[in-house]
Amino acid sequence: MFTADIHCDALWKMSETGNHSFTENAHTLVNKYSLERGNINVQNFALFTPPRQSIQKQRQQIQEEVHLFENKIIVEDTIEWKPYQRISLTSPANTHAILSLEGAGMFANDWKSWEWLKSKGVEIISLTWNEKNDLAAGSSQPNQYGLTEAGKEMIQWMNANDIIVDASHLNEKSFWDVLDWADQVLVTHSNVKSICNHPRNLSDDQIKALAHKKGFLGLTLYPLFLNGTESATYADIARHLERLDQLGALRITGFGSDFDGIDTYVDGLSGPEHLPHLISWLTHFFDRHIIKGISGHHFKEYWNASRPNK
Ligand SMILES: [Zn+2]
Repeated sequence: MFTADIHCDALWKMSETGNHSFTENAHTLVNKYSLERGNINVQNFALFTPPRQSIQKQRQQIQEEVHLFENKIIVEDTIEWKPYQRISLTSPANTHAILSLEGAGMFANDWKSWEWLKSKGVEIISLTWNEKNDLAAGSSQPNQYGLTEAGKEMIQWMNANDIIVDASHLNEKSFWDVLDWADQVLVTHSNVKSICNHPRNLSDDQIKALAHKKGFLGLTLYPLFLNGTESATYADIARHLERLDQLGALRITGFGSDFDGIDTYVDGLSGPEHLPHLISWLTHFFDRHIIKGISGHHFKEYWNASRPNK
């Protein structure tokens, strides 16, 4: 089944651990062979660095991760990389890689850096991690803060350059501001707040608005965002899907695992190689057509509609 995973932090893990291999790496869950075993057809790779380091350090780490993406990942024969183009794999066994930036505060007001990111093929950007920065306010922040003037300018630039705004990690005020300003929005890795009340998850109103805007929601496979604890089962994922069905939002839903960004896992789901097992388990409870969509077709449709005609 065509399978897409719209968020992982493998680049950060590779940079952080100093093991830069995409083939021989005991630290990363997402690598060439786990993607092959999981038959992953689309994998989004996030550039990420914790905002607690100095701006200088953050920029250096992002540059290093871009270098790893270019020299370790897209050089592999199973990885296809066609920035700003639709997904059309030359082999069904291959993986279409996407490059994104998770948290953009280190580049606020620096137009040269935005152009650099675009030249490197970054197609999705989230404005914050959980913190407040010069662009917007993240999920740990009160709702008196939202999108800043610099954040609005940034989104206008993204609109003009076919770069999609990732509304994951924002607080509610920033989320609603982004929905107003951005032409194209998705949420790469968040779950349903009415099932698991966590600030990183989305309220029913947010989910309905995202569906109305023809966005996309990647469900994250992190126990804390599934049921508020350190362990979870496939049934917890099914509960989020049932609620999304009630909200009329299943048609915009897929996966945004957060592998290599999380430290606890759903039972039997600790890497891309386990996704086929989850998908086949879900077909016992949901219509096969729906599961095909969640597995990857919803994202493919969303993505291909969002890419400029080239
Ligand atoms: Zn994240």
